[in-house]
Amino acid sequence: MRVLLVGGGGREHALALGLVRDSAVDALIAAPGNPGIAEVAEVKAVTATDPAAVAALAVETAADLVVIGPEAPLVAGVADAVRAKGIAVFGPSAEAAQLEGSKAFAKDVMTAAGVPTARAYVCTDEESTARALDEFGAPYVVKDDGLAAGKGVVVTDDRSAALAHAAECGRVVVEEFLDGPEVSLFVVTDGEAALPLLPAQDFKRIGDGDIGPNTGGMGAYAPLPWAPPGLVDDVMRDVVHPTLAELRRRGTPFAGLLYVGLAMTAAGPRVIEFNARFGDPETQVVLALLETPLGGLLHAAATGTLAEHPPLRWRDGAAVTVVLAAQGYPAAPRTGDVITGADRPGIIHAGTVRRAGDGALLSAGGRVLCGTATGPDLTAARDAAYALLDGVELAGSQHRTDIAAAAIAGRITIPG
Ligand code: AMP
Repeated sequence: MRVLLVGGGGREHALALGLVRDSAVDALIAAPGNPGIAEVAEVKAVTATDPAAVAALAVETAADLVVIGPEAPLVAGVADAVRAKGIAVFGPSAEAAQLEGSKAFAKDVMTAAGVPTARAYVCTDEESTARALDEFGAPYVVKDDGLAAGKGVVVTDDRSAALAHAAECGRVVVEEFLDGPEVSLFVVTDGEAALPLLPAQDFKRIGDGDIGPNTGGMGAYAPLPWAPPGLVDDVMRDVVHPTLAELRRRGTPFAGLLYVGLAMTAAGPRVIEFNARFGDPETQVVLALLETPLGGLLHAAATGTLAEHPPLRWRDGAAVTVVLAAQGYPAAPRTGDVITGADRPGIIHAGTVRRAGDGALLSAGGRVLCGTATGPDLTAARDAAYALLDGVELAGSQHRTDIAAAAIAGRITIPG
């Protein structure tokens, strides 16, 4: 099987490592890729959000399967363009990707499907926003309706900050605050059959102790020792299957990766958000533990044959990833700094480039790279992930020091 992987971040590096481990994958081409991906795949230039360009590249590279990593190409219709060429593609149609592309659309689907989620209003002016804020009370949750790479959400006790964010975004979803630890559950689906991966937890805030602004994610771990037994079955029954059925009913079946972001509240799991693709950095820990060949799994979802796929197999133990971010991230990340010590297994590239001429590795994004490690338990995996980052030098870089710490200490509790 020849696979074309679209994207160039940490998620795609993790997907690339998973795909090349699958003996059924004879060739991996990545576009645009990154310096880490270039170690394991043939890299081609492409504008990942250009449907015609990606479809043409899929034909030119004789791809049997196209895997689309990021959300922007999905929302732009890249999966539709590839499918129109008769090539199997892992990733939903533009219409189904609205589950991530529009928070208001996602709320509408959840309401129709009876999925447990935060009560919410879609607001487009100051008056309706203020009314919604006052109905729910603090802490206030205000979400940009459109794609914002995980950074369009403000959770604050400051009413004027909540109003200011709404004014900046234009159209927002204001919703009730969900109290409880968060879980990310990835589900591989062909639109009907659905296979859940291991639940993981990520760390959205920039600072230790969940302080500071939201980011794209500063670290992750799996499995979750504190998750209630039966959690995955409950979420499949109450969230995933009703959502997939509602999208089929609307004539826009969702095939690809359904990311369910949950808060474990006193009233049970509640959906915080859906994404239409693998989440970063959780992908790095989940795929590090997946023993089932990844190419075959994604191909089955892309070709509507997931019902015949064997049950997933997982490695024993745990995985932890810690993100190394650039100075100034998330507000104003500094790029173009030299990175040393990154050429080691377990270092996943998220925002890096090679300098023309001498080939030096440079930072090129807010989240620059991650140290991802497995171990017999969370403590061992965590120690190994931090040891990986210890060897990396990047001027001014920042990382959280508490990834997986609360889980290891048994300090995560579900309210109620
Ligand atoms: P989202 O982009 O919707 O995932 O939101 C980003 C982050 O904001 C989530 O991972 C949560 O940490 C936080 N968040 C979003 N919605 C809520 C909510 N209703 N209650 C509490 N926290 C939330």
